[in-house]
Amino acid sequence: MDLRGLSREEMTELVVSLGEPAYRARQIMAWIYRRGIADPGRMTDLPVPLRDRLALLACPCEAVLQRRQSADGTLKLLLACPDGVAFECVRLRYGYGYTACVSSQAGCAGGCAFCRSGEGGLERNLTAGEMVGQVLALNAAGGRPITRVVLMGGGEPLANYAEVLRFLRLATSSDGLGLSPRRITVSTSGVVPGIRRLAGEGLPVTLSVSLHAADDRLRDRLVPVNRRWPLAELLAACRDWARLTGRRVSAEYVLIGGVNDRPEDAARLARLARGTFGHINLIALNPVPGFPHPPPSREAVAAFARQLRRSGVPVTVRRPLGRDIDGACGQLRASSRQGPAAGATNQPPDPEAARPGG
Ligand code: SF4
Repeated sequence: MDLRGLSREEMTELVVSLGEPAYRARQIMAWIYRRGIADPGRMTDLPVPLRDRLALLACPCEAVLQRRQSADGTLKLLLACPDGVAFECVRLRYGYGYTACVSSQAGCAGGCAFCRSGEGGLERNLTAGEMVGQVLALNAAGGRPITRVVLMGGGEPLANYAEVLRFLRLATSSDGLGLSPRRITVSTSGVVPGIRRLAGEGLPVTLSVSLHAADDRLRDRLVPVNRRWPLAELLAACRDWARLTGRRVSAEYVLIGGVNDRPEDAARLARLARGTFGHINLIALNPVPGFPHPPPSREAVAAFARQLRRSGVPVTVRRPLGRDIDGACGQLRASSRQGPAAGATNQPPDPEAARPGG
């Protein structure tokens, strides 16, 4: 049992079933979410017999396998579960504070062309408790607490719908992480049924689509999920999301040199974005070993953004972060599967990481 994945009601049921008063649930959740301690043995205001019983029931938390700090301020952790599964999480430092980039799956079945999370396919879905654990691990690194969460780490969140929804409820509950739903972004490669389902959950989170191409031919190659739910279906779902939630969807577009960064790509993207996307985030590709295309030049990124703005599309150019610490999605996990990468360290400084896609 993972105590971090239990709602207040479930925690209450658990403590009552152990013969304890209901208020113990609040105490346990305060330890987990306010103090970042999920080990029952350290919950010192609980009676020792209860601590012992919980310790027998609760599964051990993940260990930090690697910890890397980028010169640009990105902190990236590789966490290992007791079953040997490993996954990444990243802390990004912005002017307003820290954002956690959380993985929803170990590995990914998405197979996006430039993403190392997909290498080796899907290992398994992560549980809500493991997603909570990533935020707690990043908070434990010190500094200001995490105030925003983006589900943009390894995996496709909407392919792990039930656990992601449970995580969102824990993240936004006042007994849990207590974050505003507006400070949580769910990023999808385009799982249309998941978008439609999430729109009806009454959770006003931000939805972001990893677009990366504005025509089906190119998107089929870059983001294979497009073969199942092509652009017309994806855009219709995004417009329905906006109608149902009152919030427009944003899109991530990783610029790849010579592939999707030409003026004709910008023109196509502008046509597609109008009326569907509230905002486009442009990110220059983080170099990915084995991916044959380079990042775009600075000039190409600036020209692409200019062209979109001239067409009336709101655009932000995001800095690629964490390049010196395998900052792109899945790189740290992939390099750990091949053995320790050069420069790996267990003694981190402090960073920010961005990933292309996801
Ligand atoms: S970009 Fe996202 S959906 Fe695509 S392979 Fe990577 S993690 Fe999976």
